[in-house]
Amino acid sequence: MAYPLLQDRAMKNTICLFDLDGTLCREEQVVLPEMHILLSQLRQQCAIGYVSGGPISKQQRQLSNNSVPVTSLFDFCFAENGVTAFRMGLRLPGTSLIEWIGEPHYKAFVTWVQRYIADSDLPSKRGSFVELRNGNMNVSPIGQLANYDEMDEFERYDRVHGIRSTMIEALERQFANLELQYAIGGQTCFDAFPVGWDKTYCLRHIEAEKQRSGITYNQIHFFGDKILKGQDDFELYEDRRTIGHVVVSLEDTMKQLRDLVDL
Ligand SMILES: [Mg+2]
Repeated sequence: MAYPLLQDRAMKNTICLFDLDGTLCREEQVVLPEMHILLSQLRQQCAIGYVSGGPISKQQRQLSNNSVPVTSLFDFCFAENGVTAFRMGLRLPGTSLIEWIGEPHYKAFVTWVQRYIADSDLPSKRGSFVELRNGNMNVSPIGQLANYDEMDEFERYDRVHGIRSTMIEALERQFANLELQYAIGGQTCFDAFPVGWDKTYCLRHIEAEKQRSGITYNQIHFFGDKILKGQDDFELYEDRRTIGHVVVSLEDTMKQLRDLVDL
């Protein structure tokens, strides 16, 4: 599919940004063909991008397949909230969390998390409890290797017992010197990252478009499902530079998109 150049699109000052899990697809699952069709229609009219806390490999799995690079499906791809960023398929320069935090602090953090989880009583534990990503540290008390049923079970348990929120409070006390912030995203995990490296981080790449191609994006629509304080869409949804849209499901995203743009 061919798309007009960014400057040649009918709504050239508009960009639609999307959260991934719970907004474009169900948690950890692949994006449906009808969503892809809608997005490619939208891309004819304005710029499109996604912004997610997860790594690009996860988005490749959920948004595409082995033969099509996910970075070809959106004008802007913001993995790890935009710390890893792609524009028109090409990587934009950036930094990394490990560079920012340094190995000694990182090791102290991981060691503390592993000890805390070891001492926690949970419905199940599956392994891969901390993942170091380019833009954040992802902590999963149940482990990333849990299957869908185990994830559902953990989410119910967490709703009653506040496992993640209690752990975050303890981390905030323990690592008060590190200037980290925390965001609960998916069903079973949360991210820790430097203050300001939330989803609003990606806006610097969109604002840089003015110098890059002369386009000022003054209509930045953002669709997300986790918009409450402490959740991962909160900061970008609330940011005065964006027009926030809260969605309850991917079906809701499609409906709201059709209402917003004549598709
Ligand atoms: Mg979400």
